[in-house]
Amino acid sequence: MALTFRLMKKPRVCVVGAGVIGLSTAVRIQNELPNYDVTVLADRFSPDTTSDGSGGFWQPHLVGGDNQDMVIQWGRDTLNYLFYLATSPLANRLGAQMVSGYSFFSEPQCPEWRHLVLGYREVDSREIKLLFPRARFGMFYTTVMIHVKAYLSWLMSRFKHNNGNVIDARIDKLEDLVKEYDVIVNCTGLGARKLINDHDVTPIRGQVTRVKAPWVKLFMTYQGTHGHCENYILPGADAVVLGGTGQEGNWNTGVDDEDRKMILEGCVEMMPSLKEAEVVRHWTGLRPHRTSGVRLETERLAKGKLVVHNYGHGGAGVTLHWGCAGQVVREIRTAFTPNFSRL
Ligand SMILES: Cc1cc2nc3c(=O)[nH]c(=O)nc-3n(C[C@H](O)[C@H](O)[C@H](O)COP(=O)(O)OP(=O)(O)OC[C@H]3O[C@@H](n4cnc5c(N)ncnc54)[C@H](O)[C@@H]3O)c2cc1C
Repeated sequence: MALTFRLMKKPRVCVVGAGVIGLSTAVRIQNELPNYDVTVLADRFSPDTTSDGSGGFWQPHLVGGDNQDMVIQWGRDTLNYLFYLATSPLANRLGAQMVSGYSFFSEPQCPEWRHLVLGYREVDSREIKLLFPRARFGMFYTTVMIHVKAYLSWLMSRFKHNNGNVIDARIDKLEDLVKEYDVIVNCTGLGARKLINDHDVTPIRGQVTRVKAPWVKLFMTYQGTHGHCENYILPGADAVVLGGTGQEGNWNTGVDDEDRKMILEGCVEMMPSLKEAEVVRHWTGLRPHRTSGVRLETERLAKGKLVVHNYGHGGAGVTLHWGCAGQVVREIRTAFTPNFSRL
């Protein structure tokens, strides 16, 4: 009854987090649940979020959990949306582009997402010899990249244009928001570790170097025996992103000289012309990894209030964001629909 009364007013949603997960979730809620009043609350906004420094490359990478079915579903929805952006008049503004290239390996690989990307094929020994003789296996495919900083700025402008409210604040517990809001969406990334005491959330430290090398048109990645991409070259719209590290449990957000050397030397080995590239900047970010996988589920609080968790996307936040945001919308709709039908 209390819930029904509240819903006769305009239901209020607070999305906590202003990275790619929070902003995309807020915008999808506005688009698909137009009767809701949506607020984004965060203590860090673009350009100071982890999302801002991301490579913006679509590929499921360093994402936890055994059940990859949902990763494939969210990844497919997101890839389709990014393909749409990359072929729309917005592409230039968002630095959204289709990119083709090679992923090389020291061990054979057969990723489940191979059917989602375009033109997937295994490479032959001639290509390996010609391009990266250190590798033993490889694949070629077309995917999408987006300039995440530009994308966040666009999402924020859409959110404000749709009358979204923005609050710059830090919260210490989600319960603090219960009085004010009917639905709280927890998109706090690594912050969830402290905010809701989820110790399954740990950082995977990533360091990258951005360079000016406009002649680089293909992406190249190499995964050796360490299980993560040891080196990658991603031709973004604004710069070429060279990576990288994948250090689990490492909280250091500074730039490490050893890592810088490994990144530059490894990438130059893959693509010798990068020796000529001008370094723009080095950057380190902490991927919000969750060993048991992305947490996207609803928790019911007292008096019919709802929390929808959407965090722990590891090295794949950009890859999964739009699909995850769609599921948050479905979770809210499912939770409230029976009450609407009784009004
Ligand atoms: C080097 C590197 C390269 C990457 N490259 C790629 C890539 O190519 N493709 C890809 O898909 N992914 C990539 N990633 C991963 C991607 O960046 C993350 O998965 C993504 O940024 C997670 O987004 P998020 O919105 O959950 O987190 P964040 O961007 O960290 O945002 C978290 C938000 O929550 C807010 N917050 C947290 N706690 C609180 C609190 N208590 N109170 C108020 N606000 C709070 C913060 O202020 C912030 O606004 C990369 C990551 C790194 C480090």
